[in-house]
Amino acid sequence: MEKLSRRLRQVAGFVPQGARLLDVGSDHAYLPLYLLEQGAISHAIAGEVVDGPYQSALKNAQNSPFTAQLEVRLADGLAAFAPADAIDTITICGMGGRLIASILDNGRAKLEGVTRLVLQPNNREDELRNWLSRAGYAILVEEILEEQGKIYEIIVAERGQQDLSDLDLRFGPFLRQDKSPVFVTKWEKELKQLEQALAGIPDHHEEARSAIAQKIQAIKEVLHES
Ligand code: SAM
Repeated sequence: MEKLSRRLRQVAGFVPQGARLLDVGSDHAYLPLYLLEQGAISHAIAGEVVDGPYQSALKNAQNSPFTAQLEVRLADGLAAFAPADAIDTITICGMGGRLIASILDNGRAKLEGVTRLVLQPNNREDELRNWLSRAGYAILVEEILEEQGKIYEIIVAERGQQDLSDLDLRFGPFLRQDKSPVFVTKWEKELKQLEQALAGIPDHHEEARSAIAQKIQAIKEVLHES
């Protein structure tokens, strides 16, 4: 599977050996096919809600040696699986954090047998962490990486209790501790944009200025904390 991005290869690394996987939004089914090729999972469902990507995933699955282990289903979010599928791991990648949270929330009743979530939001990571925290998940691992000029975060969660501060929700409890070069790049860029935005807001718009000033202060605090 030469086509798999580094982003999705890193996601694959967090899927437990032998998992029964649901990949939600499985455009092309690249991730489950890669995991099957590696012998890393036992069974997978590739779920897609849009017909075009569903057809691509179906074609790739049918042309693979894994027709017995990979099912492609046209479905919205977690509607792609039933209890009989005994799914234990869900991956949801390449979507906004708000959409990932809403997919999980809409299918919340089906998450009972699922032990691990591997999530790769493209934005609004704070909203996703907030959902995880409120739904009784603890973040086990976080990863941040840069690929082709874009920065991506990966969040691995399992059931558990975890107290997250506002800074943890926004920056990631592990990412802000690690402060990797990619993390610093991401937040320095955001800081610059916010400072430019602040400079453009007239003094009498106190509320707007104060909201941005608080965001700036939080980034400075996290980048400089040891
Ligand atoms: N997961 C792949 C990746 O990370 O490269 C594909 C990402 S692509 C940008 C997002 C895919 O999610 C699209 O194919 C879209 O149709 C699908 N999608 C969006 N909402 C969905 C939902 N509620 N249920 C299933 N698939 C969904």
